[in-house]
Amino acid sequence: MASITPQNTPDAPVRTDFIRQIVRDDLASGKHASIKTRFPPEPNGYLHIGHAKAICLDFGVAAEFGGSCNLRLDDTNPAREDPEYVRAIQDDVQWLGFQWASLRHASDYFGVYYLAAEKLIRDGHAYVCDLNADAVREYRGNLTEPGRNSPYRERSADENLDLFRRMRAGEFADGARTLRAKIDMASGNMNLRDPALYRIKHVEHQNTGSDWPIYPMYDFAHALGDAVEGITHSLCTLEFEDHRPLYDWCVNHVDLAGNPELLEPLLARGLPKEAGKPRQIEFSRLNFNYLVMSKRKLMALVTEQLVDGWDDPRMPTLQGIRRRGYTPSALKLMVERVGISKQNSLLDIAILEGALRDDLDAHAPRRMAVIDPLKVVLTNLDAGFEETLTFANHPKDASLGERGIPFSRELWIEREDFEEVPPPGFKRLTVGGDVRLRGAGIMRCDEAVKDAAGRVVELRCTLDPASRPGMEGANRKVKGTIHWVSARHAVAAEVRLYDRLFTVPDPDAEEDGKTYRDYLNPGSRRVVTGYVEPAAADAVPEQGFQFERLGYFVADRYDHAPGTPVFNRSVTLRDTWSQKG
Ligand code: ATP
Ligand code: MG
Repeated sequence: MASITPQNTPDAPVRTDFIRQIVRDDLASGKHASIKTRFPPEPNGYLHIGHAKAICLDFGVAAEFGGSCNLRLDDTNPAREDPEYVRAIQDDVQWLGFQWASLRHASDYFGVYYLAAEKLIRDGHAYVCDLNADAVREYRGNLTEPGRNSPYRERSADENLDLFRRMRAGEFADGARTLRAKIDMASGNMNLRDPALYRIKHVEHQNTGSDWPIYPMYDFAHALGDAVEGITHSLCTLEFEDHRPLYDWCVNHVDLAGNPELLEPLLARGLPKEAGKPRQIEFSRLNFNYLVMSKRKLMALVTEQLVDGWDDPRMPTLQGIRRRGYTPSALKLMVERVGISKQNSLLDIAILEGALRDDLDAHAPRRMAVIDPLKVVLTNLDAGFEETLTFANHPKDASLGERGIPFSRELWIEREDFEEVPPPGFKRLTVGGDVRLRGAGIMRCDEAVKDAAGRVVELRCTLDPASRPGMEGANRKVKGTIHWVSARHAVAAEVRLYDRLFTVPDPDAEEDGKTYRDYLNPGSRRVVTGYVEPAAADAVPEQGFQFERLGYFVADRYDHAPGTPVFNRSVTLRDTWSQKG
């Protein structure tokens, strides 16, 4: 048999994690002719950085091995779900660069689930139970005590069918009855102690309206959803490991592949009648310090207005970090570096920020911007002096081209690049000292002009005429180089200086009555007015740059327009937190 190799680009490393190894083996042994995966978010919130790992794995594995991946919205819990989330999820997956083979909803399969449940009843594998939620809990036992059988466990198949059909007809109130799998109340695995398969819930569903007064439970719906779609490898996070026996139980006892009549309802929805026997494989969740990542907590940050919404650039949602300036390739690099394992751990956020820096360092064009402006007047230039200097867009990548930067008599420089009383080792501008203006020559500061309050408001400087670009004197040694923009040509910009949202590594730790709300970083957003060179002001939304010496910035996805720039700081040039640590 021909050996199976993943269809990586020629220079990409062959990934060797345990999941890809399983896939490789299954293809090599002929167990599967081709593979199929799915990414199955519940549309009850926005996707976050953790989901990016699952997306890269589900879609990535399928692509590498010539298979396909579905996007399935697990919409079995209508009370919590919303079409707004469905739209954002699709946007996020496509932004990451993936395209689903087919977009499905678990609700597409409600008819199949229902027939599957009737089959389980007829086969004696499921029963209608009248215990209420409290009683079910009491009967279930605990980790040390076996459970007790429900008094309704031995109902006849006929009685169960009749009751289940009446549940479906809407005859009973919410919570009055459940359909339960008949497995083993003494099982060491609590998930196998006759878990509920269906519950009564008279609630409108965003896709099926009021068609259904009963809804399938997650484990049942998820396993059968995978089977219906012919998923071969169902990849999920480790918390589902204990659910795998139930997953397999559902797949095997319903056996959709062997009972194609159960797939009949798919035709009404224009879906193919295919089914298979999926295998669930678990991997570790992605967790970073300095972040919270559960949808519940992210929801609380939004509803309590501790941030400006799901797409606030400080949020770890994909919509948020996209607005912050994270790129799909930075996230893929991060996922690559973190790898796939079965070991849950809390990773250092420096890994995430490092991947962003490395990606932007290689790809982001350079621009000049001044975010805390101090005026410089070059007194030896004429008032009308004006020229255009040519700058490379990237120091190492000539393919990014060049641009012109206007230079004139009045400049803005960074206030912190000047010190009246320089501290020891200060290499930039002081009165009487020289500094190199990036790409424009060397200037000496002759005088610091102050306002009535004694604050420096202007520096009067002389540009060394022999130090202009291309001249002999341009190579004269001076200690410091600073960036600048031409005051007449620069464009005022709103600059949002974002930082980490939390001040502590583990905001999830609920100690001394504190919660993550108590650890919010008051300095996580500072808004200033800066000046950017024209080529930055002309950016299109979401275009990212390195502002030289300041960090990586992105033109805001929503608020920026060419000519009225709004920039978000994506990340600083260096990690300033690890030293604080
Ligand atoms: P949360 O627990 O944050 O609310 P969730 O697990 O409920 O998230 P789902 O919509 O159910 O979110 O997740 C869809 C898929 O993404 C699942 O397969 C899940 O295992 C995976 N996933 C969710 N969070 C992470 C994470 N932090 N790391 C890796 N995969 C994740
Ligand atoms: Mg979930």
